[in-house]
Amino acid sequence: MSAHFLGHVIDGSETESADGRRFTTVDPWTREPWAEVALGGRAEAEQAVAAARRAFDEGPWPRMGAARRGRLLHRLADLIEERAEELARADTTDMGKPISQTRGKDVPRTAENFRFFADHARLAESEALPSDTGHHVYTRHEPAGVVAAIAPWNFPLMMASWKVAPALAWGNTVVLKPAEQSPASASLLARLALEAGIPAGVLNVVHGYGADGVGQILTEHPDIDRITFTGESNTGRAISAAAAGNLTPVSLELGGKGANLVFADADLDSAVEWSIKAIFTNAGQVCLAGSRIYVERPVYEEFIERFGKAADALRIGAPGDPHTEISPLSSEEHYAKVRDYVALAERGEGRIVTGGLGEGWTVRPTIVVDVPETSRLLTEEIFGPVVVVTPFDSEKEAVDRANDTPFGLNAMVFTENLHRAHRVSALLDVGTVWVNCFFVRDLRSPFGGVGDSGVGREGGSYSREFFTEPKAVVMRIDGDPVSGA
Ligand code: NAD
Repeated sequence: MSAHFLGHVIDGSETESADGRRFTTVDPWTREPWAEVALGGRAEAEQAVAAARRAFDEGPWPRMGAARRGRLLHRLADLIEERAEELARADTTDMGKPISQTRGKDVPRTAENFRFFADHARLAESEALPSDTGHHVYTRHEPAGVVAAIAPWNFPLMMASWKVAPALAWGNTVVLKPAEQSPASASLLARLALEAGIPAGVLNVVHGYGADGVGQILTEHPDIDRITFTGESNTGRAISAAAAGNLTPVSLELGGKGANLVFADADLDSAVEWSIKAIFTNAGQVCLAGSRIYVERPVYEEFIERFGKAADALRIGAPGDPHTEISPLSSEEHYAKVRDYVALAERGEGRIVTGGLGEGWTVRPTIVVDVPETSRLLTEEIFGPVVVVTPFDSEKEAVDRANDTPFGLNAMVFTENLHRAHRVSALLDVGTVWVNCFFVRDLRSPFGGVGDSGVGREGGSYSREFFTEPKAVVMRIDGDPVSGA
């Protein structure tokens, strides 16, 4: 029996499942279960949706206004900062990412998401349309209703907050289903929301599986008004199909195969440093990972040499050690998947410059070159610390290769030529282009992907569009504006 238990949080109470079923969550470093988690099914999904519906239809949350909601969301952000260590340890233990990442990035960004969307909703303007026909025309943004938020395991708390924060700020109520591999921080978040004074039923958390589990039940539920999902592209397809039955609007943030273009005129030190971050942060378990690097031929050999040295210097170790930069993959199943891609390279689909398998479920930073264009190493999302580097000879070839994928989440361009930077950015078929940097997020900007990388955008006013129903109000104004009669 594990020492910890994580319950659902439904209508303000932490509960077991009605049938008492549980599953275990495994620490990828010890490879032992570390907590037992209530396994939700139809009964818990129904209870959570009903609680969220009541809180929306009858409770104060949608009606109290953005300023009062914002104060409570800021209070939640304060509590997230106060309890940062507990939250950081929850994600690190659940999915094995280095504590420096959860402490230094994920938890602070989670608090920032709540603060940003609280302020964004409070300060938002809406349209008033000048009318020559004797009418006053303006737009209201009404909360959409009950939101199902389905989160992945790679940034458990941060991705959950990316959905929950704008949904709540705009007056919706939420049922959050965290990934079964990383349930802990969601329960903590829901408890902190109650402690902050957010009313019961406004943020509910149900644990369980996706397909044939609570995830699927939520996406098929007729009382859900919005589905916001982050995860694999094939799961996105299944959710889209399920949502179609009720015509429920969906926002899908899906997989990626980011291209990273390094031109010969780039600052090579900086390009190497960012390329390392882009593929090896979180052991490559990042939708935005720069997993395909294309380097202009005159600097290709030099880039490989410097990039290989920098990759070898990354510190591999225990997730809880503050010096660790690469730690185990999130689960045995995921490790097996990434191991198969490494095996493809070992069997001759390319040449491994450095890397390979490590201890336990760890994969060392792995760089592969001479990979045929059709190899699955180049066409599929590996979601691990494995990167393919390929030379190119012209700007057109670089752009064509970058776009030669069904994914379109993001790309990076390294060049000191600003004309080229703008030209190439315009031609890349992606949702975000980073020039001479990576992972820099302005929360006002649109975030999402094209093609297999997703449907819709979130962030700033894009989140408002998704989480509200814009309503036109048209008022007749009687009388003649000139005579006043
Ligand atoms: P996943 O699709 O396996 O699972 C994500 C969530 O969906 C989990 O909570 C899971 O239980 C649930 N789920 C699975 N099948 C479902 C179904 N049929 N109906 C409803 N819910 C279902 O993804 P994952 O392995 O947890 O996460 C990794 C993937 O997420 C990668 O492909 C990565 O690129 C992607 N991702 C994308 C972004 C982005 O912003 N575009 C960000 C992070 C991760």
